[in-house]
Amino acid sequence: MSFSLTHDNYDLKRAISANRFVGLWRLMTGFHRHYFGATISLAVSASAKTITFLLLRFFVDQVLGNTRTDVPLWLIALGFIGLALVEGSFAFMSGRLASRTAEGVARRLRAYLFDQIQRLSFTYHDHTQTGELIQRSTSDVDAIRRFFADQAIGIGRIVLLFVINLAALVRLNGRLALLSIVVIPPIVAISVFFFKRVGKAYEKYQEQEAALSTVLQENLTGVRVVRAFARQEFERQKFEKENWEKFLRGRRLLIMHALFWPSSDILCAAQMLFGFAMGALMAIDGTITVGTYLAYAGLVIQIIWPMRNLGRLIVQTSTGLVSYKRVIDVISQEREPLTEGKVRPAGDVRGEIEFRDVSFEYESNAPVLKEISLHAQPGQAIALLGSTGSGKTTLVNLLPRFYEYTGGSLTLDGVELKDYPREYLRGQIGIVEQEPFLFSRTIRENITYGVGREVPDAEVEAAARGAAIHDVIISFADGYKTLVGEKGVTLSGGQKQRVALARTLLKNPRILILDDATSSVDTETEAEIRAALERLMQGRTSFIIAHRVQSVMNADQILVFDKGQIVQRGTHEALLAQPGFYRQIYDLQARIEDELQQELSVAVMPNMPSGNGHEPVI
Ligand code: ADP
Repeated sequence: MSFSLTHDNYDLKRAISANRFVGLWRLMTGFHRHYFGATISLAVSASAKTITFLLLRFFVDQVLGNTRTDVPLWLIALGFIGLALVEGSFAFMSGRLASRTAEGVARRLRAYLFDQIQRLSFTYHDHTQTGELIQRSTSDVDAIRRFFADQAIGIGRIVLLFVINLAALVRLNGRLALLSIVVIPPIVAISVFFFKRVGKAYEKYQEQEAALSTVLQENLTGVRVVRAFARQEFERQKFEKENWEKFLRGRRLLIMHALFWPSSDILCAAQMLFGFAMGALMAIDGTITVGTYLAYAGLVIQIIWPMRNLGRLIVQTSTGLVSYKRVIDVISQEREPLTEGKVRPAGDVRGEIEFRDVSFEYESNAPVLKEISLHAQPGQAIALLGSTGSGKTTLVNLLPRFYEYTGGSLTLDGVELKDYPREYLRGQIGIVEQEPFLFSRTIRENITYGVGREVPDAEVEAAARGAAIHDVIISFADGYKTLVGEKGVTLSGGQKQRVALARTLLKNPRILILDDATSSVDTETEAEIRAALERLMQGRTSFIIAHRVQSVMNADQILVFDKGQIVQRGTHEALLAQPGFYRQIYDLQARIEDELQQELSVAVMPNMPSGNGHEPVI
């Protein structure tokens, strides 16, 4: 079977249903055929088994009992072999078709969840832990897979075995048939009793497993912080606490199973003994023949042991239902519409941005941005300065519509931002993060990541040159094909930053967001990065978040933020000329750097502010 990306366009939103059985049924859309095939194969296989016992009875009573001397032994032997073959091959067919369904549904679920998760809003991700999402895309999908592979088909098998064998039993002897099933109502009752409890216990177990993966995932992501603060012991204890809770919940789940299984086993065993004894008594007093007794013994096993499994399967089904709910919870979230919007210009925007009394709050919290007004002409550099938590990142996050402003008006080229499709808007904006993220792919793939077309080598190199990273790249043995990350080279903070700049240069956006792009860079590369950034900002409207005054001195407008408001605005010279936050930071930073300079006894440091206002921006 070949790999196909487009095999399945089934929209899983259609599988959302308050009734979880209906939902699971809809998940199977497209595979119902296979599933029916699996059920019919099961019926054939089960019937073959039943007929085997009837043949046994015929053989013992009629052939060995000499009433049918006309049937040759070889024919009987052939009958047994044929039935065994039919039983085996159809059982195989059934398993194959069921697993085709189960694996197909699981693949579809995983694919849909992956896509769904990458299309959910930032607001959703703010609330949802990564571990939880990973858990739902893996372990819960697996529980649903097991439901289709084992439980649903298993229950079908049992019902079929029951019906077919009971019919055969009734045909053998009505009274015996009745005696053989007295235990079934209590087994079903016990199963239903445990069904609900196991479901709850399993749900708690899954939640805890998600909590555990969250701790693990955070620990891995924050590996540097953990080590830098020597918090391994604290982290170990945090993990151990969650691990202990998982142990308790897992134990509780197993105890439920451990209570359930023996009770249903005892009932089943008692039933069989009872049936065998009654049958034996009837055979002894001649009510039934020996052949009937032998067939009966075989058929009873065919009914009772599956019944014992029925309880088990019903109980396990509850885990499939819980997982369905957890998965559907993610599927039913609204996706962030990417292509909807009234205005879609054919070309690029000019980059004129105007905020008029824009306010914003994160879900029902206090306002984070309060009536912000600013006007950026195309190509202007706007610097945002202010203490942490004053709302700078929030403001720039409104531009690509990562979050929607809650009040006021925000226009790009005179058009309200909400009227542009997000996809178009994001294509117009380049973001350089403080700590850029590079994928574990080649450097070339990282640079061409956002372009979405084949890029000629010359273009990639030009971008890398512009970002002052070309020389570094060609110094690697594999050049642009060098792998980044765990399996390849480890790039320094400054190198990563420049690869990210090359990526943005290639994307060639009209609007640029620079989130403190030089803060984690050593002084040597800082000059290069500054130069690269300057090239990048040429002709683009740029928003620069910075912590150091000297990073913003050349900006056309400097906005000083405090508690979600702009408290000062103007050029570097204008702001220095007035008392206020800006001058305070300037003085403070100048003093610190002076002291640093003296301590290091370095004559000139490239990033020292000289106050003449002619340094490059950033
Ligand atoms: P800055 O970039 O100036 O450091 P931010 O814009 O990151 O400030 O944060 C402004 C305020 O909004 C802070 O009080 C912060 O706690 C809050 N905040 C930031 N991101 C979120 C979020 N995703 N959900 C809720 N509150 C947030």
